[in-house]
Amino acid sequence: MNQAEQIWFNGEFMPFADAKIHVMSHALHYGSSVFEGIRAYHTPKGSAIFRLEEHIQRLFDSAKIYRMPIPYNQDTINQACRDAVYNNGLDSAYIRPLAFYGNVGLGLNVPLGSEAEVMIAAFPWNAYLGADSIEQGVDVCISSWNRLAANTMPTGAKAGGNYLSSQLISGEAKRHGYAEGIALDINGQISEGAGENLFVVKNGVLITPPTTAAILPGITRDTIITLARDNGLEVKEESIAREALYLADELFMTGTAAEIVPVRSVDGIELGDGQRGPITAQIQQLFFGLFDGSTEDKWGWLDYVAPQ
Ligand code: PMP
Repeated sequence: MNQAEQIWFNGEFMPFADAKIHVMSHALHYGSSVFEGIRAYHTPKGSAIFRLEEHIQRLFDSAKIYRMPIPYNQDTINQACRDAVYNNGLDSAYIRPLAFYGNVGLGLNVPLGSEAEVMIAAFPWNAYLGADSIEQGVDVCISSWNRLAANTMPTGAKAGGNYLSSQLISGEAKRHGYAEGIALDINGQISEGAGENLFVVKNGVLITPPTTAAILPGITRDTIITLARDNGLEVKEESIAREALYLADELFMTGTAAEIVPVRSVDGIELGDGQRGPITAQIQQLFFGLFDGSTEDKWGWLDYVAPQ
């Protein structure tokens, strides 16, 4: 396992072995945590964190939804993320900030005045769905588990508890020999993968489920929408029926950990010619080009770890 050598925990860096919590921690019992997954990439100008401020904004938004006070401001957390990459001597990395309720008692509602504890770890992590996934694509299935209903737990918050749903979806898929599971929302429309958003390509147009389809509004999803439109491709956010996946010209999944992964087949039905399609390849080139400089970073998405 790749592990972070120095972890930022409640305001200071400490060795991996010292960053511990108590077994009575609230988050361990009730899932009361919010977190982020962020990547830093090697670039010609040094290591850069991709869309750091947007990720930390989403962390604070997730905490706000659950009324969880984070006792640091966003600038402090942003800098701690840069330092976590830098202090661990990393060039490319996966960064995991987590805010959670610690040892505040086992009452469901935490005592008034309780604040979150915060940790940030940075460590090397290769392509989440396997080394070949980016070029070769993956085989996926529709899960028998639905995504959360909007009035049960908000999928727009990236909260620890939500990932029990994701574990059911991805675990079932893997047991049946698929790389990933895709869930329907409670209305039976396509929602998202266990940890990725989805894009269908049909007749040259990109279509992705709207934020009302029980998705996490992914930062990679937003990046792809922006890059595609900037390059003259049409993108629609609209409901997608299950059978539209089977009939897609191309399908790909997006996420920080997974990056951009072509889908070869859904439920054993081959899509297109069963290989990465031309628009998926173009989108990958635009996305990964941000890190080698072949795609201009017009949006200021690269946040350099070392002072420039
Ligand atoms: N949906 C879920 C459920 C996820 O866990 C993730 C990964 N964070 C995504 C979508 C993709 O989001 P992002 O592009 O911001 O990583």
